[in-house]
Amino acid sequence: MIAKNTKFIILDRDGVINEESAEYIKCPDEWKPIPGSLEAIALLSQAGYKVVVATNQSGVARGYYTEEGLARIHAKMINCAKAVGGRIDRVFYCPHHPDDRCICRKPAIGLFEQIALFYKINLKGVISIGDSIRDILPAEEMGCCPILVLTGNGKQVSKEYPELIKKIPVFPSLFIAVQHLLSPNAFLRD
Ligand SMILES: [Mg+2]
Ligand SMILES: [Zn+2]
Repeated sequence: MIAKNTKFIILDRDGVINEESAEYIKCPDEWKPIPGSLEAIALLSQAGYKVVVATNQSGVARGYYTEEGLARIHAKMINCAKAVGGRIDRVFYCPHHPDDRCICRKPAIGLFEQIALFYKINLKGVISIGDSIRDILPAEEMGCCPILVLTGNGKQVSKEYPELIKKIPVFPSLFIAVQHLLSPNAFLRD
């Protein structure tokens, strides 16, 4: 059961908002929204939710793009959301390589802690939507309500972790997850 105690939501980026790419998203042109995802953000904004993004971007450490390049990609994402009436309040990202053993690369909780600190909020009960096990684990550790979407890596995750998907809500896409979340009887399970 989702505790809807705060109108704050944390979204993963790749595979949730935009199409995942094994070759990384290296420039704004390669950033392509998943159908309905920007409209989902708009629905959240209009319902009074503050929308933030938490994303691993090891492509920076790998030298595939710079932090300036990443900022241009995020500007495109934010502007595309804005064009349909959505507001992404802020993007929190980990630029490190997995070998760096940093504290912010998901499944570590560093990005979530940054969010809690920045907004001075407790993330307990906050909805966190991702397409990877790396998104689900830190959300659980922080006491958030994780949701899995089946875009991006989600289908694979649902096959690899059958026990997990019995425990948490699973939706075909961000758009459908948000429609459900905003419906009057959201997450009342039968
Ligand atoms: Mg992802
Ligand atoms: Zn990091």
